[in-house]
Amino acid sequence: MIITKFGGTSVASAAAIRATAEIVRGRLDRRPVVVVSALAGVTNALLGLAEQATAGQVLTALHGLEGLRARHLGEAEALLGDDGAAGLCAEVSAEISVLCDELARLLEAFSVLGHLTPRALDAIAATGELLAMQLVWGAYSAVGLPVAAVDPRRVLITDATFTRAEPKPDAIAAAARQHVAALVDDGRVPVIGGFVGATADGVTTTLGRGGSDYSASLLGAALGADAIEIWTDVDGMLTGDPRVVQGARLIERIRFDEASELATFGAKVLHPSTIAPAVQRGIPVFVYNTHRPHGIGTRITFDAPRRPVTAIAAKAPVTLLKIKSARMLLAPGFLRRIFEAFERHRTSADVVATSEVSLSVTVDRAAGHGRDTGALDALVTDLAALGDVSVEHARGVVAVVGAGLADDTRTMARALAALHGVTVHMLSLSATELNLTAVVDADQVGSAMRRLHAEFFPVGDQVGADGELTSASTSASVAASS
Ligand code: ASP
Ligand code: MG
Repeated sequence: MIITKFGGTSVASAAAIRATAEIVRGRLDRRPVVVVSALAGVTNALLGLAEQATAGQVLTALHGLEGLRARHLGEAEALLGDDGAAGLCAEVSAEISVLCDELARLLEAFSVLGHLTPRALDAIAATGELLAMQLVWGAYSAVGLPVAAVDPRRVLITDATFTRAEPKPDAIAAAARQHVAALVDDGRVPVIGGFVGATADGVTTTLGRGGSDYSASLLGAALGADAIEIWTDVDGMLTGDPRVVQGARLIERIRFDEASELATFGAKVLHPSTIAPAVQRGIPVFVYNTHRPHGIGTRITFDAPRRPVTAIAAKAPVTLLKIKSARMLLAPGFLRRIFEAFERHRTSADVVATSEVSLSVTVDRAAGHGRDTGALDALVTDLAALGDVSVEHARGVVAVVGAGLADDTRTMARALAALHGVTVHMLSLSATELNLTAVVDADQVGSAMRRLHAEFFPVGDQVGADGELTSASTSASVAASS
């Protein structure tokens, strides 16, 4: 069994959805389970509607909703408009309308309440994947694939941390056997919306933005899949962001730990948490381009070669927190208190460096649906009780990632030399020596990335650092599918 996950751009139009049907058909003998994202742009649009409705602009929100309804009905028509599929078209359109009507009622309710809870936000955000599922189900049925729609809320059981719910692996495993594996055993192709889950008592949740990859990985782990395929609009993982660096190349095989580093440092191809459930089960993850179904893609496994430098990654803006306490820092338990504050505010510390008297930590801009900037303020207030805290916004992180980074000190020396002229606020070599990370000004991230990429992947030298890399078409955008 394999999991094939299609991102928002892979299902953005009727033509795109048809292309995915052919990809699935080519894999029937491998018993695929299909996970789909919302159509590109839909999740953002839904969150926008929720905000409008709560801000009292309910008519604007309802108008926007009609736009979304029309878009989905239009795709249904484009996919199933022929006479032969009239019954299917009516069925899919009716499901789309039910979902949109329900959404309209939610929006009206929020406009009356005047405020939005995370739980309500999830009910709205989830609609994108539920709509996409209907279209994909219809399209696959129309071309004769033995498809079966599976409501993700019956399978992806989570806790009640709305907008970034924690999955419950045991419950998911049981539900996946019952509602997914049984269908596969029956010769069917289950289609399930990503990103969406539900609490044990059935309240809709979501796994956080970009969470469809996570759904794919969780399902893959639950079902003991042979592989997880992430179909997106780029050729795979690249040595650098092609929008920023020249001559970014495809990485054909990458180690799990490197890929997960890259994801954390902003390679938008994969959701970072995608990696974890798959890693634990030793399941290989592939990244492929839906627009070039026969491309090489990137294979993420345990046994990829150990290279000094696999890629240059970056992330901006991030916020740099510095906590100074001349008396306390080395006192036993002090660091624990600092990190307990992070835990209380559900903020993850990214890059960390300490000295005798200070601790520097970078944190991402708000996670979840991007509405919880208050979390940082609350964290800073708590930290202020432990020492002097400074908050530096507009910083960025640039990382040189490679499992063999520390094998030869010259690699590190070259990296630092390449950063000549860039102001570095903090430097960190991970304990696993998988990445050398520099915190720089946000507006210097691009130049730092270009310098490092040029050093380790010089244009014209297609062999690169390890003799494994091939040049990639970099015409595709690396923006995350939305
Ligand atoms: N549609 C969701 C989002 O845009 C989940 C996903 O695409 O992975 O965040
Ligand atoms: Mg999306």
